[in-house]
Amino acid sequence: MADRHVQDVIVIGAGIVGICSALALQSRGRSVLILDRPQMSQRASEMNAGAFAFSDIEPLATPGIMRKAPKWLLDPLGPLSIPPSYAIKIAPWMLRFWRASWPDRHQLALNAQASLMEVSQSALKVLVADVDGEELLQREGQLQLFEGEREYRASLPVWQRRREHGVRFELLETPDAIAAYQPGLDPRFSHAGFTPDWINSCDPARWLDRLRTTFLARGGEIFAGDVKTLIPDEACVSIRLEGKDLSAKQVIVCAGAWSHHIARTIGDRIPLETERGYNTTLPQGAFDLKTHLSFSGHGFVVTKINGGVRVGGAVELGGLDLEPNYKRSEILLKKAQSFLPELKADGGRQWMGFRPSLPDSLPVIDRSPNDRRVLYAFGHGHLGLTQSAGTAELVAALASDTSIPIDMSAFSARRF
Ligand SMILES: Cc1cc2nc3c(=O)[nH]c(=O)nc-3n(C[C@H](O)[C@H](O)[C@H](O)COP(=O)(O)OP(=O)(O)OC[C@H]3O[C@@H](n4cnc5c(N)ncnc54)[C@H](O)[C@@H]3O)c2cc1C
Repeated sequence: MADRHVQDVIVIGAGIVGICSALALQSRGRSVLILDRPQMSQRASEMNAGAFAFSDIEPLATPGIMRKAPKWLLDPLGPLSIPPSYAIKIAPWMLRFWRASWPDRHQLALNAQASLMEVSQSALKVLVADVDGEELLQREGQLQLFEGEREYRASLPVWQRRREHGVRFELLETPDAIAAYQPGLDPRFSHAGFTPDWINSCDPARWLDRLRTTFLARGGEIFAGDVKTLIPDEACVSIRLEGKDLSAKQVIVCAGAWSHHIARTIGDRIPLETERGYNTTLPQGAFDLKTHLSFSGHGFVVTKINGGVRVGGAVELGGLDLEPNYKRSEILLKKAQSFLPELKADGGRQWMGFRPSLPDSLPVIDRSPNDRRVLYAFGHGHLGLTQSAGTAELVAALASDTSIPIDMSAFSARRF
């Protein structure tokens, strides 16, 4: 039999986690090939809200969340929805989510999230310099808005936890104080928190493109291919594509919301689901946005993208195959118009994408329990862009068996 060519490292997935991981491996002298499906319009990394949301250390599975969920679920176009056809399928994930919201687990997840944020914030700084990317960022902070004093008071324990973890913020308790950061908001938003260290990319697709171009310029390769199965043997790990096999010494699975299918082919069962999200991108001139706006009680954000405005969010627990329901984008846009009366809502482009989500709101960043040569980096949910540079540093350290700056147990592939 002819000798097969064995690559040094193959990364599966050219989303933000895959590309950042590939760059971090390259900078440690590794030779990297990335595989991705030929056409991919729903890649979350290209059309998300573009936020490096370093202050968002609070896991979604928070104590008390299960009391709020039924109210949200009553409205089929509300911030959280489960299509009836997916209700039974998602039940085991929901059960784990509920368990993750208990105070003991929540505290562990919060600490883990905060430590990953710290690593990610430092790693982004290095990455921006490395790819000369400052021109692609907006350092304008974030306003998290509350409709009335009650909603604001309910958020205070979260702000307290942020303070304990060193997150910088300013609390604003009048519409006038809010208007100093963002004029033009409906005065029903009477309270807010401003987080100055929040950063936005001008456009996540352009940011990803800068990283991809840098990777290619440094000798990296990207191949089109739909990965079907991993086949480890004594010498290496083979990857079966349609009609072809490739082999590598190490394989990094960064396939976003599809990663669990690949992990299962070597016997790892990881309860990854997708939180589908929707948005509409409006052209330049839609609104004079001064900072990133988060309407947490309504589950969506308004953010500046390429000088235009992107309105998006919502969580639909509907799996990977259901057709998008763009009524969700329309509802979010209508709400945004009532919150920002001068918003021009014409000429928008709608989109739906798949957040890769694990029930405890933390990613898996670990070696496969079944084969040390296969590494996993997926499941970043709402925070994949935010945590991409930090995840990549951890992946590169794991892959080269060098020391890791944080406790990795919360990101283990064995924790489920
Ligand atoms: C509406 C919305 C708004 C968001 N806003 C933000 C935000 O502001 N900030 C933030 O931090 N995060 C945000 N997120 C989350 C963020 O977009 C994701 O967490 C992140 O993009 C996940 O990146 P990824 O690289 O893991 O996955 P993806 O970007 O989905 O990339 C995975 C890649 O793997 C490839 N792949 C999958 N299966 C295979 C296979 N079998 N063979 C070959 N290739 C395969 C896919 O083609 C894809 O290119 C948002 C998400 C949504 C939906």
